[in-house]
Amino acid sequence: MTCSRCAYKWAIRKRGDIPKNCPKCRSTLWMKEYHNYTCARCEHTWGTANDSPQRCPKCHTSKWNVPAVQRPAKSETVVSKLDPALKERIYGLYYDGKGGITIAIEMGLAFGDVMDALCEKFPGDNINL
Ligand SMILES: [Zn+2]
Ligand SMILES: [Zn+2]
Repeated sequence: MTCSRCAYKWAIRKRGDIPKNCPKCRSTLWMKEYHNYTCARCEHTWGTANDSPQRCPKCHTSKWNVPAVQRPAKSETVVSKLDPALKERIYGLYYDGKGGITIAIEMGLAFGDVMDALCEKFPGDNINL
């Protein structure tokens, strides 16, 4: 037998003699699977035998398993100063799955200019770097 709470191991003497409590930590939940959770809001990590905790024990959010929505740092509209033909090439590379850094290197452009062009095209998106 192994306690899922304290990892204590012990042998049962006779068959069917399954104790109610762990001999070491006295937990009645020792047979249940023990889960470790991390709160997406406050990054608190805790262990519980409950397989669907309602709230984070630290910050008490009920949305502990829902990552916080990432808002773009800047909400103002970005207007790229690049040539439209250059921008089209940037978007083409971006659609090919390349990130901002790769595009800047391949096209010999400043990373900031590439990101401005991508932010202008995809406002509010998290641009792949
Ligand atoms: Zn135990
Ligand atoms: Zn939390």
